[in-house]
Amino acid sequence: MSTNKTFTMIKPDAVANGYIGAILNDIIKDGFQIKAMKYIHLTESEAGSFYAIHKDRPFYSELVAFMTSGPIVAAILEKDNAVESFRTLIGATDPTKAAEGTIRSKYANSIEANAVHGSDSDANAEIEGNFFFSQFERF
Ligand code: UDP
Repeated sequence: MSTNKTFTMIKPDAVANGYIGAILNDIIKDGFQIKAMKYIHLTESEAGSFYAIHKDRPFYSELVAFMTSGPIVAAILEKDNAVESFRTLIGATDPTKAAEGTIRSKYANSIEANAVHGSDSDANAEIEGNFFFSQFERF
């Protein structure tokens, strides 16, 4: 059974390119409600912990450098079947393979600088939301 929450980040490339408003608009138009949101600049230690699952992959240190290169927007989103629905909205990891109309196809630059994060499971949505937000920062 799926829960109704997912976690997202608008990554530094999309923030730097001026896409915060456009991406939030796409998310809201797709039926998601924002349950928590913050605009922050991750430290190396925070980005390293968030992506610890990828620490043995060749792109890990570059990914941490990219995610600390500028501010991001982090948010908890709610919709029925949120995790799967949001992964459909953002498209494939590599924007050249992302379906037309998806957020990554519209706003991303590369497989690394791919505009947005979306949790890949209900369990990770819970862990990632808790990583960024206390119980007082969510609705
Ligand atoms: N990533 C990368 N190079 C790769 C694959 C992934 O830099 O070859 C980055 C990219 O920013 C991606 C993140 O690592 O969003 C996490 O990778 P994952 O495979 O979990 O993709 P996602 O779930 O974000 O689509």
